[in-house]
Formats: sequence, structure tokens, C-alpha cells
Amino acid sequence: MIRFYNTQTKSIEAFNPIKPHHVGIYHCGPTVYDRAHLGNLCPFIYWDVMRRMFESIGYEVNQVMNFTDVGHIVSDADQGDDKMVSALIKAGKELTIENLHIHGRQIAKTYLDDLDALNIKTPHHLPYASQHIKEDIAIIQKLLESGHAYQVDDAIYFDTSSIDNYDTFDVHGDLDQKHTRVTSSKEKISNRDFSLWKFSDPESNIGWDSPWGKGFPGWHIECSAMAWRYLGESFDIHTGGIEHISIHHTNEIAQSETAFNQPMARMWLHNNHLQLNGEKISKSEGNVMYLDELSAHGLHPMDYRYLILTSHYRSEQNLTLNSLRSARKARHTLAKQFAGITTVNPSSADITENPAMKQLSVDLNTPQALASIRLQSKASDNHEIAFYIATEILGLDFSDLHQSTEISFDTLPANVAELLHRRSAAREARDFTSADEIRAEITKLGYLVEDNPNGTQKITKK
Ligand SMILES: [Zn+2]
Repeated sequence: MIRFYNTQTKSIEAFNPIKPHHVGIYHCGPTVYDRAHLGNLCPFIYWDVMRRMFESIGYEVNQVMNFTDVGHIVSDADQGDDKMVSALIKAGKELTIENLHIHGRQIAKTYLDDLDALNIKTPHHLPYASQHIKEDIAIIQKLLESGHAYQVDDAIYFDTSSIDNYDTFDVHGDLDQKHTRVTSSKEKISNRDFSLWKFSDPESNIGWDSPWGKGFPGWHIECSAMAWRYLGESFDIHTGGIEHISIHHTNEIAQSETAFNQPMARMWLHNNHLQLNGEKISKSEGNVMYLDELSAHGLHPMDYRYLILTSHYRSEQNLTLNSLRSARKARHTLAKQFAGITTVNPSSADITENPAMKQLSVDLNTPQALASIRLQSKASDNHEIAFYIATEILGLDFSDLHQSTEISFDTLPANVAELLHRRSAAREARDFTSADEIRAEITKLGYLVEDNPNGTQKITKK
């Protein structure tokens, strides 16, 4: 039996699929204005484990992750500029739908490359918001016809007072106050009301024709529309970050459930945030790290995946270079324990009865599952099933470690050997900044340096 913590009921509940042995999952995906940092990628590691867990016990999974390429306003409360439009302005590009499209696809490609490097299976559907305007319009039309939306000069708004249970997550104690402080539209009836369709400025090129005039959809309606298109009026699991609970998901539920008159999703799962060096990850503050920066520190994307799994998706996790290095060491140890095993085909009973799988089935407890795998990797029984769960369900990969045969110092090119000497000296002088810089130079030359516990350096080909 699989159980998850459902934010809507604030309890751990048994998962009951709408259709036996099928699961439809919608993930609020990235707004593709800028490439992903490590914090953006983190939740998709957890959701990938969720998908793999379902698949391993015979479920047919239909996984949808959208790309938002229009309509995501800087503040979740409909205030400020569209993130994509701001990105185009910053890049000095003309504001056209075509440029929006090109920019969005370019950023989406970098996301997909990162997911791939992290061994995250590609979701079955990757819809772009700008390709689903028709579905947005259809839902808005339903809401207007049933009297749950109203049109004013600047936009069409959802009338939150027209439903009884708008505050479905019960989190809105202070929301009205927040909204009062930042309200913009004079015509919005209640500060809680949110835009479904915003009319374009007359001089703007960004907009689509609709029965009500040229404009663009609100961010919330886009997710309702894409979830409906690929998963139907009601589906199994909806995920997102905890920051989505109070506005984005509250609004998705309000509009979808009013339009279709049934629960949007059976379960709502929310991941906590990743911090970097004890602080919020922030591009503007310069506290940010990207996946492709790991190699300069002698680290592999799999080390990051391993580290993320050591924390539960509902806990806040702090990332540091040291924690990544520890994860690498732990992964190395595991790889040695599993040396020689290549393929395993366990029965479904072997999988479901394994202690690691039992941990995963209770609200995706990856840290406990990983701890169990480490224990089992040292024991003689269950060894192969533990390997199967580590690689096929936790999605770990050890091949980079097996391939990295150490290169003897004498066979290195002279410039690499020289750098290695200088790095040794820097480390002896405890000048770790220089040591890291020299490591980055060595990486650029195609070699990876790792520090052995005894103080020596191990060098491998990239
Ligand atoms: Zn969403």
C-alpha cells in the first residue's frame, strides 16, 4: 500500500488510484525565462523516484510537466511584469510571440539536458502553456457562463466570493491583508479574485485572440488547462513547491473544480526548498549554483542526486560543497559494495517486501530507503534486490565511478602534472580557494581530481 502526505487533508493517506494500476500525475513545471539552478531541479528528483516506484510495482504512469512560457507574473498575486516578457527585454529582443517561443524552447532544452544528466526519466507530456490557449479559453467560457467569472476593463477575473470553499488549503489567515497592500486593479471586486485572462495593451504584440478580445491567459488557468488536456477533469496526484499552496494551487482548484464540478486531484503533494550554504538560493544575491558547475569541483550530477535523496521532500535541505563531497564518498562506498552486479530482475514480491521499498511507500521516505539500501549492500542476502532498488527506483547510477580508472602521475601531460603539483602545494598551505581554482583549470583540460582521505590526489580522465 502506498501512502502520501496530502496537503489538503494535512494527513498521510492511502493512495487509491482513480483507475486501478494507473496513475496520472501533474507537476507544476518551470517558467522558462532562465535556466534552472540546483534548487529548481531538486523536486524533480523526488518526483522521478515517485514515478519509478509506481512503475516498479506495475502501474502505468502518465506524467505531465508543463513549461510556462507566458502569463507568469513576477508576483504570484498578479502583480508586476510577466517573467518571460522581462527576460526578452533583458536580452534586448523584440517582444513578439515568436521570440517568446524561441526563448522558451531554448531554456526548456537546458532544463531537459539537466534532467537527463540527473537520470530523471522524461515525463510523458511536456506541454507549453502558449500551445494551450484554446483550452484556457474553453474553461474561462464555462466559468463566465456559470457566473463564476466577470469581465472588466483590464481582465477577466474569477469571482472567489461565488464559491463556498475557496480557501481549500486553509492557509489564508493573512492573505487578504497581503493582497490589500499590493492591489492594482480598481475594478477587481475582491482582492482575492484572480485574473483568468488579461487583455493586452493596445501597443503590445504579445497576445492571442479570444471571444473577449486580444490578451493572454493567467498563470493559474494555464495549469488547469494543461492538466485537463492530458489527464482529464479529475486525476490522481498534483505536485508543486510549498510556495504554490496559498495562491497558485488554491486558484487552480477554484477554477478547475468550479468548471468541472469534481475534485481536480485526489492528492496534493508539496516539496520544501533547498538552501545553499545556509541561505535562500537567489540569483540576484549571487547565492546560486548550476548543475554544470559541479564538475569543476570534481563532482558528478549523480552526487547531487544522491545528496537530495538523503533528505525528505517535505524537509528543507541545505546544500554545501562539503555535503556534496560527502555524498560522493557515500556513493563511492555503495558502488564498491555493488561491484560486479549488472542486471537484476526481481519479482514484484521481492520488491514490495524489501525494507527500502516499504520506506518509500510511506510518503516517499527517500532518506530511510537510502539508509536501508546502504545496510543491505553490506549484507549477503538481499544484495541484488538492494542494487535493483538503488538503480531502478532511487535512480542512482554508478557507471561514472566504475569508469574512472586512476591515471598514474607519470603518464599525465606536463601542464596537467604541473597544475597538480601547484594544487598539492596550495592544499598543504590550506589555501583551499586556490586549490579549487586550480582544480577547475585541470577540469577544463579534461581531467578530474579527487582528494583521497590520506591527503593524496586521485586523477581520472573526464
Ligand atoms: Zn501550476
